[in-house]
Amino acid sequence: MNEWVKVDVPTQFPMRCTTCQNAKDLLDTWVELPGGWRVYYCKNCARMAARAFGWSRGKEQDRLANATDVLAEKDKEIADYKRLYEDARERTTMLVADGNAKADHIVFLEGRLEQLTQRLTSESRSLLELVNTGPEEAA
Ligand SMILES: [Zn+2]
Repeated sequence: MNEWVKVDVPTQFPMRCTTCQNAKDLLDTWVELPGGWRVYYCKNCARMAARAFGWSRGKEQDRLANATDVLAEKDKEIADYKRLYEDARERTTMLVADGNAKADHIVFLEGRLEQLTQRLTSESRSLLELVNTGPEEAA
């Protein structure tokens, strides 16, 4: 006898749970009935069977049955947070690079301002000397 296997979607006729109409999230029992009917059980019917045998009951059983879904949801949440973190990190890196470029530009502009200041100071000194010496002496 083969181990029962959980399948998301059945591949054999009648493509659904043997005891109800559920057509996904099934156990494949590998049992073939006359006429080629494959025996599948869905989660709900398996839960009913477990309760009938007294193996598990009520809320605790539901909690355990849903634990996989909860884990999958948490994994998705973690993936979402990782994506957000990566986006934020990328943006921060870009902002830092932009800030560095602006700081370099400010240094460049300060240097240019210093050059202009020196040139204008020097030119105005020359003009002042010209004024102080007067036209007779300059000529
Ligand atoms: Zn069923």
